[in-house]
Amino acid sequence: MVEVARLQKIPDGDNETMIPVLSSKKASELPVDEVASILQANLQNGLKNCEVCHRRAFHGWNEFDISEDEPLWKKYISQFKNPLIMLLLASAVISVVMHQFDDAVSITVAIVIVVTVAFVQAVDLSIDESSLTGETAPCSKSTAPQPAATNGDLTSRSNIAFMGTLVRCGKAKGIVIGTGENSEFGEVFKMMQAEEAPKTPLQKSMDLLGKQLSLYSFGIIGVIMLVGWLQGKHILDMFTIGVSLAVAAIPEGLPIVVTVTLALGVMRMVKKRAIVKKLPIVETLGCCNVICSDKTGTLTKNEMTVTHIFTSDGQHAEVTGVGYNRFGEVMLDGEVIHGYNNPSISKIVEAGCVCNDALIRNDTLMGKPTEGALIALAMKMGLDGVQEDYIRKAEYPFSSEQKWMAVKCIHRTQQDKPEVCFMKGAYEQVIRYCTSYNCKGQSLPLVQQQREQYQQEKMSMGSAGLRVLALASGPELGQLTFLGLVGIIDPPRTGVKEAVTTLISSGVAIKMVTGDSQETAVAIASRLGLYSKNSQAISGEEIDDLDIQQLSQITPKVAVFYRASPRHKLKIIKSLQNNGAVVAMTGDGVNDAVALKAADIGVAMGQTGTDVCKEAADMILVDDDFQTIMSAIEEGKGIYNNIKNFVRFQLSTSIAALTLISLATLMNFPNPLNAMQILWINIIMDGPPAQSLGVEPVDKDIIRKPPRNLKDSILTKNLIVKILVSSIIIVCGTLFVFWREGKETGGFKKAVDT
Ligand code: ATP
Repeated sequence: MVEVARLQKIPDGDNETMIPVLSSKKASELPVDEVASILQANLQNGLKNCEVCHRRAFHGWNEFDISEDEPLWKKYISQFKNPLIMLLLASAVISVVMHQFDDAVSITVAIVIVVTVAFVQAVDLSIDESSLTGETAPCSKSTAPQPAATNGDLTSRSNIAFMGTLVRCGKAKGIVIGTGENSEFGEVFKMMQAEEAPKTPLQKSMDLLGKQLSLYSFGIIGVIMLVGWLQGKHILDMFTIGVSLAVAAIPEGLPIVVTVTLALGVMRMVKKRAIVKKLPIVETLGCCNVICSDKTGTLTKNEMTVTHIFTSDGQHAEVTGVGYNRFGEVMLDGEVIHGYNNPSISKIVEAGCVCNDALIRNDTLMGKPTEGALIALAMKMGLDGVQEDYIRKAEYPFSSEQKWMAVKCIHRTQQDKPEVCFMKGAYEQVIRYCTSYNCKGQSLPLVQQQREQYQQEKMSMGSAGLRVLALASGPELGQLTFLGLVGIIDPPRTGVKEAVTTLISSGVAIKMVTGDSQETAVAIASRLGLYSKNSQAISGEEIDDLDIQQLSQITPKVAVFYRASPRHKLKIIKSLQNNGAVVAMTGDGVNDAVALKAADIGVAMGQTGTDVCKEAADMILVDDDFQTIMSAIEEGKGIYNNIKNFVRFQLSTSIAALTLISLATLMNFPNPLNAMQILWINIIMDGPPAQSLGVEPVDKDIIRKPPRNLKDSILTKNLIVKILVSSIIIVCGTLFVFWREGKETGGFKKAVDT
């Protein structure tokens, strides 16, 4: 019995006492008596005072200690531990040694500005951990290791950011060190953790650019220093020149401008009702070439209304009215059906109402729209109180995997009568539990002919774009009587068709992933223009039968994945990524979290989405609208353009400075720019001109341009030519000014002479 608990030794005078420790997971699995016995608790009298003190000495108080925060000055000093800053500091020291005090002061001032800007932007990460620790005051974070003695409580771990907590202000980079396995969401988080979030294209481009620039510039600097040394110049002079060149060549403002540009894009996107959780995702949107979207609620309105009823004995009724209210009628052969005057129809309505968790109050729906549609139908028939006639004894809840829901009830006024089951769900699921069908109040054995007829009816309702629910009732789940089908309309969202057309014409493939039937899914997809003659539709079952490689071969042609559940989404993503696609995937349920993490852009639904899927997503659509994805893609493409413009601007100045100094050194001329001047130019250039490029409004036609190829480097041939032309103009201009001013003041000649 004690196996389930840990016994922890603690010193007790000369002896050691054992304190039992029991995890909440284990405790939840055990009866109360057993828990009390393991923890040596007395259920009648509680713990004795001495025992309380004893255990408190081991466990501590039932609260979190607030540890002292790292002083701000320490955080500030740590900013100087950057190799480039160290290099500049060394250059300032050398300037002092060489008695160039004005240079030393200017370089130092510039360093202080750079460090302060960085400190204000990268420091001061403040996190609201109230959901985790109950501590309402925001917690400051730093990277300083915490002493083991104060590290017992979560609040004292000020170098750790916890999942599920909210950033109040600031930003920081972190390493994922683990998942909350002991929390309720632990299992889902564990799975999400197994899926590594891929690096975004911008991160990859910037990594590549950084490597290329460092390699080239350090190579050139090495050559210049060698040439200078061979020319007999002093090694200290060459070091100063080397530092100037490093400062000139490395566009240290780039990460800040990229961040600011992305942040401005994120703010613009909030106005378009898309919340982006990870900055670089904004730019990934511009590369997105496949969008996998849920149907219900994203492409369609998720406003369900029953429009058609088919009874198991072959009657067809039409239902009028829209929305969750009693306005509308059920019409059969031109006659209004009300109450119980058509038993076949009222049985369907009764089953739909009893096997239901939704409520309509003052024309407002509380619960799922599919269920709300059935309650509204009952209201139109005057049967909306029918649930009150039954007492629910058991429930088999709906899940996207199972695709049906059932309840077991007894009649309130006939409690001595046997229990009755009601079931509703996808036709092919419900029919598996039926052995008979209702024919004018009688239960007749279900034969193949009936099944074929019902299958046919279900297909024709689906082909009209209706969501089809089958209904059944009976004494046992395996012995149900099939009652009929209802067809529910869920109109496409306005504007989605146009968004789909624009995206498809720009080269973005759109795929619908839905739990609905083939006919319904294909009908809606065709209406929205994302399914054509050449497209294919495959089911969740077919996905199960294929491995990722096989699936990859057919996914380019598949426009609809029907009867799919959340677990299929991950396989769909992997197969698309296998073909080199950049995939955006939408999701709302807890089970979608893993797929959202694996997608290049995980998109969660703001209204219907669960917290877990919002946590896993990169972007949240505030109003669940597909059109917002298009606006986000538009913004992503625009932002990349702005970043590219900034890179062009920065590199032109960097290369110009590098060329100037290289030419001067190689030709044994005086240095036209010293380290301090280069640094100031950099600071000014990183400021207003760079920021203004970041806020350029998005070109309206950019959405029509094809998604950027992931393999394209940010430095295309075209861009390099433009950079070189700009650099040459800057170099010529600067040399001219240097020559003219130097000629007038005699400084140039003096400098050459010396
Ligand atoms: P998506 O939102 O991904 O487009 P969906 O909403 O169409 O998918 P599900 O909600 O998983 O898919 O529904 C799948 C099928 O299950 C539906 O076609 C319907 O037949 C049935 N169904 C849906 N909701 C319920 C419910 N509340 N009770 C019983 N059956 C349901």
